[in-house]
Amino acid sequence: MSADVSRRLSELTWPEVAARAAGSVLVVPLGATEQHGPHLPFTVDTEIAVALGDRLLRARETAVLAPAVTYGSSGEHAGFPGTLSIGQEALEGLLVELVRSADAFAGVFLVSAHGGNAAPLRRATERLRNEGREVRAWSPKGPADDSHAGRIETSVMLALRPEAVRAGRAAAAGSTAPLADIMPTLLRSGVRAVSPNGVLGDPTGASADEGLLVLGRWIDDLLAAYDVWTPVRDGDR
Ligand SMILES: [Zn+2]
Repeated sequence: MSADVSRRLSELTWPEVAARAAGSVLVVPLGATEQHGPHLPFTVDTEIAVALGDRLLRARETAVLAPAVTYGSSGEHAGFPGTLSIGQEALEGLLVELVRSADAFAGVFLVSAHGGNAAPLRRATERLRNEGREVRAWSPKGPADDSHAGRIETSVMLALRPEAVRAGRAAAAGSTAPLADIMPTLLRSGVRAVSPNGVLGDPTGASADEGLLVLGRWIDDLLAAYDVWTPVRDGDR
């Protein structure tokens, strides 16, 4: 068993967790199951969150990786069949209960790769901090004119799982207006009203090489956020 595998809940037993939880941070990837244009699968955000959680696990011995939360708040994508959403209120409640149940750990680090989770995530972490819990949320940042299934996410998927990208349809640009400009319509009428193919951005030019660069930037930012916050350090163990 390699070092990283032994720090996944999928590989651990409860006595093993009991022995290390107080000196560990539980890392929970948060994704979504929502349409990602005509060229990417529904699981993009979850796969990205899991990939980042994996990289954090390999980089920091204090991390223990939990299974992902694979459903999120995706109401704005409801106009596209296959999108499955639990809504903002349920997600907030889920996160509050989930983090409360992780009190054996020194803290909980939530890695969310879906922008639609942001508001309930912020409310949940505020509530949990007010309860005295050590919890931190982190999300990848990207350009405002390429927020969904565009060049960034297509490149990252080409790096992570190229066989999941429909190459022939990847050139279909969607709305490339800055997110802030289309947000009022998006909130009122959903993504379909601003982008009939479900893409916010332009996948043209996406590549696996660019995806690896993006992942590298994100993991640097993630590790910096983790290190500034973490209640336990590798040297403390
Ligand atoms: Zn996405």
